[in-house]
Amino acid sequence: MNERIYRTEAIVLRRRDFGEADRLITLYTPGRGKQRVVAKGARKTTSRMGGHLELFTRSQLLLATGRNLDIITQAQTIMPYRALREDLSRISYAYYVSDLLDKVTGDEEENRPLYNLLVQTLAGLDTAASPSLVVRFYELRLLGLVGYQPAFFHCTRCQNELTEQAEQWLPPAGVLCPECALQSPGALPISLAAFKALRFLQRQPFADMTTLRLSEALQGEIEDILRRMIRPILERDLKSITFLQAVRR
Ligand SMILES: [Zn+2]
Repeated sequence: MNERIYRTEAIVLRRRDFGEADRLITLYTPGRGKQRVVAKGARKTTSRMGGHLELFTRSQLLLATGRNLDIITQAQTIMPYRALREDLSRISYAYYVSDLLDKVTGDEEENRPLYNLLVQTLAGLDTAASPSLVVRFYELRLLGLVGYQPAFFHCTRCQNELTEQAEQWLPPAGVLCPECALQSPGALPISLAAFKALRFLQRQPFADMTTLRLSEALQGEIEDILRRMIRPILERDLKSITFLQAVRR
């Protein structure tokens, strides 16, 4: 046998049954991005791996290069994110976060900052007071990390620096200066509060989010803007958004 063994940490994005007792697992890893692998025998009650390969778990893995798919041979949990699993609202956010990542990334494209963002987001969903704000931060930073950085500091049409007088934005790219807003059919209004909050989320570190206090109406406006920014890069609306909305009702 000349199989190659390698070690990586990973987050479990998706999993499904495969064959008699195996699982097909979609991982997100720091060094290889999204990766589809097999966990042999993971569904057997005697399996030592099963519990370390739960959805959203951050684990240290040992893998063997396979002919088609690589095979997980050992798994050890780094972070189980237990609180996240005990709250339906938080877990529905986690489904959305992993679904979005799965949809906007191709297989085996290294993106270490995106891995770090995912880890930060799951940790935030596990502990933060406002999981919805954690997800808004995630959406905004993810757009930048996959090449669709929205414009909140410079006009998306003429690139001039924006002042706080900006009142319109152009989906999906970003905010317009007052002059360009007059010449942009399809521009939509944005409130000063939403504009300021989005600038804050785009520039400030994750930890600063705990200082943000946003009304429900403002959170709704920001959510809507981000959704319109994300929608064009997805082929279809995510199933997990429907699930998230059903949980809210
Ligand atoms: Zn402009």
